Amino acid sequence: MANNTNMAYMNGNENHLSNGIYSYHTTEKIMKKKAKWNIRVSEMSKKTFNPIRAIVDSMNMDPNPKKPMIALSIGDPTVFGNLPTHDAVLKAMKDAVDSGKFNGYAPSIGYQSSREVVAKFYSQPDALLEAKDVILCSGCSQAIELSIAVLANPGQNILIPRPGFSLYKTLALSLDIQIKLYDLLPEKGWEIDLKQLESVIDDKTACIIVNNPSNPCGSIFSKEHLQKIIAVAARNCVPILADEIYGDMVFQGNKFYSMAPLSSSVPILSCGGLAKRWLVPGWRLGWILIHDRNNIFGNEIREGLVRLSQRILGPCTIVQGALESIMNSTPKKFFSSTLSFMKANADICYEALSTVPGLRPVRPSGAMYLMVGIDIESFPEFEDDVEFTMRLISEQSVFCLPAKCFEYPNFFRVVLSVPKEMMTEACNRIREFCEQHYHHSYSNGFA
Ligand SMILES: *Cc1c(COP(=O)(O)O)cnc(C)c1O
Repeated sequence: MANNTNMAYMNGNENHLSNGIYSYHTTEKIMKKKAKWNIRVSEMSKKTFNPIRAIVDSMNMDPNPKKPMIALSIGDPTVFGNLPTHDAVLKAMKDAVDSGKFNGYAPSIGYQSSREVVAKFYSQPDALLEAKDVILCSGCSQAIELSIAVLANPGQNILIPRPGFSLYKTLALSLDIQIKLYDLLPEKGWEIDLKQLESVIDDKTACIIVNNPSNPCGSIFSKEHLQKIIAVAARNCVPILADEIYGDMVFQGNKFYSMAPLSSSVPILSCGGLAKRWLVPGWRLGWILIHDRNNIFGNEIREGLVRLSQRILGPCTIVQGALESIMNSTPKKFFSSTLSFMKANADICYEALSTVPGLRPVRPSGAMYLMVGIDIESFPEFEDDVEFTMRLISEQSVFCLPAKCFEYPNFFRVVLSVPKEMMTEACNRIREFCEQHYHHSYSNGFA
């Protein structure tokens, strides 16, 4: 009988509970079973972590009170207000709100019309796109998440660049997918060590992530290099996830090649978004472009992406509604002036730091970043890049991310989107800091 009442209670059957005796017994029984609260955090949440947070939280972040803080660490180009998006982009968004047409649910992969706009914008003669090849996502981050999740099972592995954007690792590990790192070579303009890349591929490798242009390196791969990467993927029958969020963000004199038109056999998921090029990271609109000329992904991968998109029902509809105007009415001049700005800051930073004892900046060709090597032997007070950057904060109030955040030792990353005066001042302070701590006798080949 106790069993019955218990079940009635569990089913929320009010009639049974209205019987005073039964409900009394039921309550008593449940109280005995549930001695105390025991709510445990899920295994998945425990496996989800952001390495940058972990490293930065471990750092002592007390700046020098005599110097105002300069943060060259934040990969958000909007924080200082010096790089606003274009007025046409803002107007598109306002019009989308005012139309009243974009307040309901869209299909989980995005409105057909918005997907057509993206397909048209990114279609190339050797890599045609239609609306059916476009999945709209909540930022490029979600595009990457869906792409990893559709290609890899728990226990499989994905290949990611070192140094590289930390999100790949965060997403993979939370899905129980292993990561394997392949090396980028600073002395070769951060090209991939192709032999080493191929050597880490095994029968459980589900995809190779290629990030071009690169965060944190600011490097751009040549067409020839991209073809060699594709050849490695082709030989091993491994698909490519191309993180092309900085696509077309290259300094004058350089050219960006997206991977898809260069690949005749390897299927490619190309991830992108509005965040960086249109300078609106908070709007959370990204996309996956499915390039599958030889029908290797087939319907299975497409349908898998559609199923995965149903978990959160797609990105914000207002931005989707504004997308056609955003893509078609942003003047080319807007993009080129953003890039001239980044290039000018890159030049200031590179020129200033290349004559600083113990530092080795690597000149970038695009995106918004510059990596600086630290000849750590020349700074005997500091064990590694984390300690170096930490002391740089406490003495000079300049914050650069240690490249440990990108799985790379003895470098730090400078963000180029800060106002020019800030860049100049930060470089002066970095020089002063290095001159104070550099020990000539420890140097090996550094003047
Ligand atoms: C910023 C960034 C992203 C994420 O873009 P969102 O659209 O803001 O999610 C993805 N990949 C790289 C390399 C980035 O730097």
